[in-house]
Amino acid sequence: MTKSLKATGNQLADSAFQLTVLRQEVVDVLHLPPFHQKMAEVGLFPLRPVAPAVLQINVGKMCNQVCKHCHVDAGPDRKEIMTRETMQLCLDALAQTDIPTVDLTGGAPEMNPDFRWFVAEISKLGRKVLVRCNLTIIVANKKYHDLPEFFKEHGVEVVSSLPFYSADKTDRQRGDGVFADSIKALQMLNAVGYGQPGSGLVLNLVYNPAGAFMPGPQAGLEQQFKRALLKDFGIVFNSLFAITNIPVSRFLDYLIESGNYAGYMEKLVTAFNPTAATGVMCRDTISVGWDGGLYDCDFNQMLDLHVASTSQHIRDFDAAALAQRPIVVNQHCYGCTAGAGSSCGGTVA
Ligand code: SF4
Ligand code: SF4
Repeated sequence: MTKSLKATGNQLADSAFQLTVLRQEVVDVLHLPPFHQKMAEVGLFPLRPVAPAVLQINVGKMCNQVCKHCHVDAGPDRKEIMTRETMQLCLDALAQTDIPTVDLTGGAPEMNPDFRWFVAEISKLGRKVLVRCNLTIIVANKKYHDLPEFFKEHGVEVVSSLPFYSADKTDRQRGDGVFADSIKALQMLNAVGYGQPGSGLVLNLVYNPAGAFMPGPQAGLEQQFKRALLKDFGIVFNSLFAITNIPVSRFLDYLIESGNYAGYMEKLVTAFNPTAATGVMCRDTISVGWDGGLYDCDFNQMLDLHVASTSQHIRDFDAAALAQRPIVVNQHCYGCTAGAGSSCGGTVA
């Protein structure tokens, strides 16, 4: 895959079409309950937020990679990026709250020309910054080689995807040569102290399955990754987050093209776990899109499902109104509530 769904004119680039496909499969074909009904059965509908702990900001869809499973449909051909004006609105909103953590995502967030300014300004507000760094960006171009030092200077927590500790599985999902570049980048992060015991510089990895199956137990995977990366490459890291692939965008396309769609949705619905449903990340997260729109999570953002609130854009950020909102759910949410559950921080149950 070298281009986004949008660039190739794929119908699944249309969020309304994705929602239709999701509903048809779950409700009309598999005759399974729609997500809101399943939540109602366990007393979780409408789903309500708790106090926000994370402001997750998607600073753009531009990326140096075109991963097969990407829920953002990101890639070098995506030009949507957050302007400095919108970043300033985020800072103004943040200053009105005591939200402790800002989670910067993309695309490759570092490709936004105002990324470093934004990180510095968020730090000045005394909030923790977490960056979802795809690793390869660090080695992609000379201008990014000093990112590890920059992250260190601002005490950024780095969260990076590495689908597996071997080249074949990683490259199949993320592109040729991605594993080798990711290893180089991890070694550069380790060299400045990231992941090293006692350094206080946190480096977490994200594992997601390479196909139409749910992740195995997170603790076991973490041990496997730690052993293999240390033995083969001398790499250390803090924690591994095991996440379930959500059936949105390019992963939805993969499921349909590979003939795994019905089976995967059935697996997710059958594995519905009320404890995981209680802990879904949208309850304590507010998500901001590249254009300043507000959402319950990054997945809803990609499906154009805006928050059900009078506060629809970061310029009209109203914490009190947002606290009253019902969270917008749909069939893709089954990915967050299956088995041990899934969030940007790994399992939840
Ligand atoms: S999954 Fe991450 S690294 Fe891969 S294309 Fe999407 S945004 Fe880029
Ligand atoms: S997809 Fe988003 S809205 Fe749905 S359960 Fe997961 S985090 Fe919540």
